[in-house]
Formats: sequence, structure tokens, C-alpha cells
Amino acid sequence: MNPRFFRWMSGRNGIDTISITSLSAGTILCIITAFTKNPILYLVSVAFFLYAIFRILSGNVQKRRYENQQFRLFFISTGSFIKNFGWKTRAFFTEFGRKIRYGWRQKKDPYRIFLCPGCGQKVRVPSGKGKISIHCPKCGRDFIKKT
Ligand SMILES: [Zn+2]
Repeated sequence: MNPRFFRWMSGRNGIDTISITSLSAGTILCIITAFTKNPILYLVSVAFFLYAIFRILSGNVQKRRYENQQFRLFFISTGSFIKNFGWKTRAFFTEFGRKIRYGWRQKKDPYRIFLCPGCGQKVRVPSGKGKISIHCPKCGRDFIKKT
């Protein structure tokens, strides 16, 4: 290529992720416009091309680099969000499948433990009996709890 072109290009931003994305978006919209003949889409595609050219030729390299970095970070975080979402969805369906196989109700603990209000002794009683009177074996106090 012409060395004068390189001299002209030096100190300019050049091609980066945003300009490539912008050019791709412009090209896709251009193809869609060819089918739909939508004038708004056409203008948007031209805007994408102009923005890509603006970035490539921009002399404010520091600012463009920063924008590009932000753009990449945004897509990296969006990508990890989607990946995370996929993982959570899979976990949900795994759990769903387990519930279908083994029943919706988790097997309840057959015992419940209460603390005696008198002495703090732990008292184990069978669960699912409704309101019952519990007798503390340590201090002999009776108290009522829902099991
Ligand atoms: Zn007690």
C-alpha cells in the first residue's frame, strides 16, 4: 500500500472491536434493507457505517480505546450473565426432575427439638402431632409447643 496512506493513518484509532461490530451491524442492516426497502433501516445502516469510519479515523485514540474497553467489558459481563442464567436454569430443571421422581414433599424430619423454657434442656419430640404438652425430663416442667 501507499506509504503516504500509512503516514496519514498514524495517530488514528484504526480498527477496533466497536468499529468491527458497527460495520457488521451496518452490513446486516443493509442486507435487510435490500429485502424490506425500509428507509429507516437504511439510515440506521448508514449511521453504523459512518460511526465505524469516524472511529477508525478518530485522532482521539485514548478516548476511543477507553470506549472500546468499556464495550468489551459490557459484552464479557453480558456473556457471563447468560452463562450463569443457563446454569441456574439447568439447576432448576435438575431439581424439578428430582421432585418428580421422589415426590414434591421433602421427607420431614420425624423429630423436632425444643428448648425447655425453664432450664434450657433440649427435648426431642416426634413431629407432626399438632399442639402437644412436652414434659421436660430434667426439671419436670410442662410446656406446650406446636410440632
Ligand atoms: Zn427443663
